[in-house]
Amino acid sequence: MGNIIYLDNAATTKTAPEVVEAMLPYFSECYGNASSIYSLGAESKKAITRARETIADVLGTKANEIYFTAGGSESDNWALKATAEAYGTDGTDNAAGVRGHIITSKIEHHAILHTCEYLEKHGFEVTYLPVDENGLVSPKDVEEAIRDNTILISIMFANNEIGTIEPIKEIGEIAKKHHILFHTDAVQAFGQLPIRVDDLNIDMLSASGHKLNGPKGIGFLYIRTGIKIRSFVHGGQQERGRRAGTENITGIVGLEAAVKRAYRIMEEKTKKEIELRDYLINRLETEIPYCRLNGDRVKRLPNNVNFSFEFIEGESLLIKLDMEGICASSGSACTSGSLDPSHVLLAIGLPHEKAHGSLRLTLSEENTKEEIDKTVEVIKQTVEYLRSMSPLYEDFLKKQRS
Ligand SMILES: *Cc1c(COP(=O)(O)O)cnc(C)c1O
Repeated sequence: MGNIIYLDNAATTKTAPEVVEAMLPYFSECYGNASSIYSLGAESKKAITRARETIADVLGTKANEIYFTAGGSESDNWALKATAEAYGTDGTDNAAGVRGHIITSKIEHHAILHTCEYLEKHGFEVTYLPVDENGLVSPKDVEEAIRDNTILISIMFANNEIGTIEPIKEIGEIAKKHHILFHTDAVQAFGQLPIRVDDLNIDMLSASGHKLNGPKGIGFLYIRTGIKIRSFVHGGQQERGRRAGTENITGIVGLEAAVKRAYRIMEEKTKKEIELRDYLINRLETEIPYCRLNGDRVKRLPNNVNFSFEFIEGESLLIKLDMEGICASSGSACTSGSLDPSHVLLAIGLPHEKAHGSLRLTLSEENTKEEIDKTVEVIKQTVEYLRSMSPLYEDFLKKQRS
C-alpha cells in the first residue's frame, strides 16, 4: 500500500503484529472445535476460557458475564432486542398497546439507532435525547425522560464521530436509582479508557475487536448476572446457550491479545495521542480561518479530531487527502457514500452546509509529528483551493469588504 498516513482509527485499526502472532496457531494447529471431547478441542476451550477471564478482569467482572459476538453491531442489536423481548410486555396491559419504553440519544451509532427504529415498529416507544453543542447528553434529561414503563437506557460511552465522552457514571447512578437497565455502546472507549463496570453501574456493555488493534468480526457483550436476556442466535450450547455457533477461536484469541496489549500500553498511548491531537487541533485552529472544532474539548477521546471548515465539501477534501496518501473520514465510515450529513453533527446544532464541510482525523500511537505536519499542509492548501472556487465564499468575502 506504499506510504500511507492512516488517520482513520475510529473506522478501524491495524491488527497489531503481536495479535496476529497470537492468532496464527489457532488456524492450523489448535483448530479443534471447543465442544469436542478430545484434547485438540480442549485446547480451544481452554483458550476461550482464558480470553473470557482476561476481558472480565479488565472490566472488573466475572468471566461468565462476557459473551463473545461477531462485533459491536451484533452486541448492540443483542442488548437492545433481547432486553425488549425479556422486559417488554405484549402491550395488552395498556390502551395504547405500548410494549415498553427505551431511552437513548440522537448521536448513537447506527447499530443502536436502527435497532431502536426496528423496535419502534414492533410496539416499543423510544426517546432519542438531544445533546448540547459539544455532544454531551444531560443526565438530568435522562432522569426526566424516565416513565413507568421504561425498560432500558442505552447511551454510548464515547462518540465515534466527534469523540465526546458521555457522563456515564452519572447516567449509571440514575439508572440504578430507578431500577432500569443500563447499556452502553463502549466500542470507541473500550481499550482507550479504563472502564470498571461496577463503578459505573453498567449492566451491559458492547465492544469490538477491530477498534482496538484486534481482528474484525469479533466482539463481546458484557451482561451482568441476573439480567433476563434471551438467546440471540439459537442452536448449540455455546456462550451459555445464549449465542449459538462454533466459537470464532482465532478471533477470540486475537481479541484477548488486543485487550492485553491495549491495557499494557494505555497510559503511554494516551499521553502520546493527546499530545499529537492537541498539536493538530491547535495548528488547524490557528492556521485555517472559518473553522470549528466539533466535540467537547476536554471530555474527548485521546485520538479524536473533528473539524468543520466553512465553504467547502468534506468529500472533496477527503479525495485530495487520499491522493496524498492520507486516510481520513468526513463522518463515520458507514455514512460516507450517502449524501445526508452526519446525524451527529446535525444533533450538535451544525447547519447542513457546515456539517457537509467536516473532517474527522483519528490518530494512533504510531502516528508521528511529521505525518501530522504533512496532513496540516495538505488540508490548508486544499481548503484554500476549494474556497477559491466557491461562489459562497466569494459572496462572503464581498460582504466582509463592504
Ligand atoms: C464501529 C462501531 C460500532 C460497530 O462495531 P462493528 O464491530 O464494526 O460492528 C458500534 N458502535 C460504535 C460506537 C462504533 O464505533
